[in-house]
Amino acid sequence: MTDAAAPAAKTPTLPDAQTVTDVRHWTDRLFSFRCTRPASLRFRSGEFVMIGLMGDNRKPLLRAYSIASPSWDEELEFYSIKVQDGPLTSKLQHIQPGDQIILRPKPVGTLVHDALLPGKRIWFFATGTGFAPFASLLRDPQTYTDYDEVIITHTCREVGELQYGKELIDSIRQDELLAELIGEGFADKLRYYPTTTREESPKMGRITDLMRSGEVFKDLGVAPLNPETDRAMVCGNLAFNLEIKDMLEDYGLEEGANSKPAHYVVEKAFLD
Ligand SMILES: Cc1cc2nc3c(=O)[nH]c(=O)nc-3n(C[C@H](O)[C@H](O)[C@H](O)COP(=O)(O)OP(=O)(O)OC[C@H]3O[C@@H](n4cnc5c(N)ncnc54)[C@H](O)[C@@H]3O)c2cc1C
Repeated sequence: MTDAAAPAAKTPTLPDAQTVTDVRHWTDRLFSFRCTRPASLRFRSGEFVMIGLMGDNRKPLLRAYSIASPSWDEELEFYSIKVQDGPLTSKLQHIQPGDQIILRPKPVGTLVHDALLPGKRIWFFATGTGFAPFASLLRDPQTYTDYDEVIITHTCREVGELQYGKELIDSIRQDELLAELIGEGFADKLRYYPTTTREESPKMGRITDLMRSGEVFKDLGVAPLNPETDRAMVCGNLAFNLEIKDMLEDYGLEEGANSKPAHYVVEKAFLD
């Protein structure tokens, strides 16, 4: 038998395996990747799933990850931290196209449109990789049909950490498919407010401080949040989530859930 006729070596297939199709490294701490989508996976933009790799003990090593791609996308996208000694991300950061990852197709989460009452303006407040669920929601036509104005704030320590979000916003503004689905001019509804806390950039400061001082409202030319008109979704570290939650309550907004829609919803970007 010649080599050409020999059966191809069989790649061992992991349970719930998906194939990586693209990887981009944004900084030494951040990367994003795309992978195949299981035919059975239906999810609402903003939800998260468990993904991972096979651990050294031959048991799956799984972590929660927000799906960064919209629900209509044929593939899935994830935006990830690289934790130097992190059990998963110390390995995951080395994946390449063609590699397999494990993905449990059971999406859950609170950052979904169903958890909010109708409103005029939606605020997405993100820090760090907390941008991921909004990368999904910002590409969902429902976001623009449900609201007159969509404001995404993203706070990171350094300028390079904003790049994934910046490129995504630019691509949405030029997206012909979204324009066709929602109508020309949909991009005018989208406002992007990036800030940094350490490295110098055009807008510096924590978003909570900029809200307290009123600067963000002045910059955007909008009134402070009001339960009559404004809805909010929050995804960041625990301290940020707690701080902004208190502020939203002070503005009069009430926390919603899938089972009881209200004015705002919160999700952790990671467990401390
Ligand atoms: C609901 C939910 C959604 C999540 N979605 C994402 C996502 O979309 N992208 C993503 O990168 N991570 C996300 N995470 C965090 C993710 O589950 C893992 O913690 C992360 O991948 C690191 O895994 P690890 O095993 O390498 O380290 P772990 O042992 O899980 O974490 C080690 C430490 O690293 C820090 N850390 C973990 N994740 C982050 C992060 N994202 N940003 C900054 N510091 C972090 C924390 O201090 C943590 O204690 C999410 C977590 C939750 C609870």
